Amino acid sequence: MSGKLSKSTSHRVETNIVHLGRNPSENAGVVNPPVYHASTILFDSYAEMKERQKNEMTPENIVYGRKGTPTSFAFEKAVAQLEGGDHAFAVSSGLGALTTAILAFVSKGGQILIPDSVYPALRFFCNEMLVPLGIEVGYYDPRIGADISTRLQDNTQIVMVESPGSVTFEIQDLPAISAQAHKKGAVVILDNTWASPLFNKPFGLGVDISIHAATKYIVGHSDVMLGVIVTKKEHYNRLKNCVYHLGQCAGPDDLYLGQRGLRTLAVRMKQHEASAIAVAKWLESRPEVSHVYHPALESHPDHALWKRDFTGSSGLFSFLLEEGITEEQIAAMVDHMELFGLGHSWGGYESLILPKHLNSIRSVTDFDSDKTFIRLHIGLENVDDLILDLDKAFGRLKNA
Ligand SMILES: *Cc1c(COP(=O)(O)O)cnc(C)c1O
Repeated sequence: MSGKLSKSTSHRVETNIVHLGRNPSENAGVVNPPVYHASTILFDSYAEMKERQKNEMTPENIVYGRKGTPTSFAFEKAVAQLEGGDHAFAVSSGLGALTTAILAFVSKGGQILIPDSVYPALRFFCNEMLVPLGIEVGYYDPRIGADISTRLQDNTQIVMVESPGSVTFEIQDLPAISAQAHKKGAVVILDNTWASPLFNKPFGLGVDISIHAATKYIVGHSDVMLGVIVTKKEHYNRLKNCVYHLGQCAGPDDLYLGQRGLRTLAVRMKQHEASAIAVAKWLESRPEVSHVYHPALESHPDHALWKRDFTGSSGLFSFLLEEGITEEQIAAMVDHMELFGLGHSWGGYESLILPKHLNSIRSVTDFDSDKTFIRLHIGLENVDDLILDLDKAFGRLKNA
């Protein structure tokens, strides 16, 4: 019975997510998969060792802790199935997932195209690690759409996409960009962290490889660093080699918490979505706020594109304060929040607030560099309590 349930992925997503990558009947009936702490794996004989090393790694055929254990395979299989990919690789962090996937496809003399709204740490990796290796890095306007064709060259190896973009939340036209990239033989790698594997199904939109900072929504409790690379089967071997050569893997307890986070992902995402939209709409009505950047709001310039490609929105968005707000006023606002924590990352159950300046992290799109974006992550607290906390914060802003 339990074996049958664990193998079925034919139900609705909230049901599948409860069972993916889990098989109690193979595990003495214990509900959750065991955590294997392993480096050495013993073989019965030299002949068996040679045979097993020749074959593909699977939960039944493991040879060394770094190359996968039943714990990593369980998590990887669950995420791949949930997102609609063929395979997944778990690695040490979200940034590690991005850099590993990129290194699998670039070579000296090649070019990578990056949206200007990319996760900033990836910009620094490209500029400081890829450029010295002789790889061209080009930045493009995330709203470029099919005009990406004007930026593609014979040596373009990767088109990176991130939708929505970091801090400013541009939605990218993934089918249009992918179609052009594929004409030139480039692979399209998406950072899908914001949507989680639930709200954007990238493989149907032309994306080749999808990355998640599992640190965020998949784990969901702000206690683990974890990344995952999900791929179509065409790119499996190349990615696998790169993961192996870079020595990428993830710790067993972190993988365990990743698969445990999945069980509640669907209910958590629904709450993040509903509360974030409520807070975003409340902010739109406030005189202190000049603009709210949330793709599920009708006021968002890419709302139609978001509606076409996404099935939901998450808890992360940003807003701009009215002109002329000083750093002192911003400090008065964010320093004394009762419920919103001041800190990096997001995707956990707790709400976070983070002032952001774009000066050093944009190079081809125009933003008023003196303006401060306030990025919010809306957690699982009662939404009226969160709005009250923000209301009091605006009071401090005025009086500072
Ligand atoms: C946080 C984040 C990452 C990096 O993930 P880490 O696990 O912190 O390394 C990558 N992309 C996006 C969009 C992120 O928000």
